[in-house]
Amino acid sequence: MSRVMIIGCGGVASVAIHKCCQNSDVFTEIMIASRTVSKCDALKEKLQGKTKTVITTAQVDADNVEELVKLINSYKPDAVLNLALPYQDLTIMDACVECKVPYIDTANYEAEDTNDPKWREVYEKRCKELGFSAYFDYSWQWAYMDKFKEAGITGILGTGFDPGVTSVFTAYALKHYFDEIHTIDILDCNGGDHGYPFATNFNPEINLREVSAPGSYWEDGHWVEIPAMSIKREYDFPEVGMKDMYLLHHEEIESLAKNIPGVKRIRFFMTFGQSYLTHMKCLENVGMLSTTPVNFQGQEIVPIQFLKELLPDPATLGPRTVGKTNIGCIYTGIKDGKEKTIYIYNVCDHQECYKEVESQAISYTTGVPAMIGTMMVVSGLWKRPGVYTVEEFDPDPYMDALNKWGLPWVVDENPKLVD
Ligand code: NDP
Repeated sequence: MSRVMIIGCGGVASVAIHKCCQNSDVFTEIMIASRTVSKCDALKEKLQGKTKTVITTAQVDADNVEELVKLINSYKPDAVLNLALPYQDLTIMDACVECKVPYIDTANYEAEDTNDPKWREVYEKRCKELGFSAYFDYSWQWAYMDKFKEAGITGILGTGFDPGVTSVFTAYALKHYFDEIHTIDILDCNGGDHGYPFATNFNPEINLREVSAPGSYWEDGHWVEIPAMSIKREYDFPEVGMKDMYLLHHEEIESLAKNIPGVKRIRFFMTFGQSYLTHMKCLENVGMLSTTPVNFQGQEIVPIQFLKELLPDPATLGPRTVGKTNIGCIYTGIKDGKEKTIYIYNVCDHQECYKEVESQAISYTTGVPAMIGTMMVVSGLWKRPGVYTVEEFDPDPYMDALNKWGLPWVVDENPKLVD
């Protein structure tokens, strides 16, 4: 029924590709295109013979629009799923516009070189105007709205778990449980243990840039920014137990603030263990999280990129990670004139994921929604020329697909609130 090009072949892509191959009635043909073609070939080798999906592979530099256009025009996909890094969002979007092919991703644009004076000028203006200083925001991709409309193509931004499922949960809560949502607390808990003193569960460079940035939340129509890790709460997560969690800036706060009418406060919390926080602080203090190149013995290196080489590859954590994740949202608001509170969440078991697709739950909880978002587009259920985040579409078919494809969810109508 459809032909999809998937760009990137890392931890998240590997899960999305496994799930496309399980869903071969929808994904009849896929192309895996990435920087290191040997990884694409190895995955094809593993899956071929176990699926009806026809898999081809290709080498591509997704920083290069011309190369992308050539590849897309030769394969002629019905959609492009971007599972490379946020650095490649804009080049892949440019290529999709030129080829008039729908675009889907899981993370919003982030500049690789944060010292680029042209990017810095826009960034500093945005920090002043909006009041948060994270390196990533939606403005770069929302600027493609007219180009996507003119090309007649749908662009879906952020269909991982968070952002992604958390925003679909919000659209579902608004459609079925509330007349008005007043507060949203997004809680991302990883109760898994991989046995290493320090490792990240997805791309270390992107992960550490996100976690070490100042936190921020949305309240009464504006952003409130706080020093990194300065708001801590404890929460007793269903099926995981009591965990410390910290308030972070997160990208879906920006789109939900725009798209959920009447919302008064949106916060995002993520759990971290003490070992992770101590290692991160130390690495930050010695300059290892810096994105500014340094000269070492005649060679230019970027400290955080060098650190990535030293840390365990997130894609290898699967066999050794035990425990569960619990990711979801607590909503308060009004229904039929009465106050109402609900908590929608999913629990995912690291070892169950490994048994199914040889991956840990963080890649699983991102890769499955990436497949589902792409399915919404190629099956025509979500079709609207322009660039949109997932809460702007009908959540019902997506919520059904989560139950069917490995991420079942629960609605608790009497949850404990976060202070
Ligand atoms: P990985 O580093 O494991 O994989 C990235 C892949 O992209 C690699 O295969 C890499 O190639 C490829 N790639 C990088 N640069 C290029 C390029 N210029 N041209 C072509 N291919 C390139 O990352 P993850 O799988 O952990 O993360 C993938 C995406 O998912 C990221 O954008 C991340 O932010 C997002 N994410 C979203 C989440 C959500 O819930 N919304 C949660 C977790 C992640 P190579 O193999 O050569 O390195």
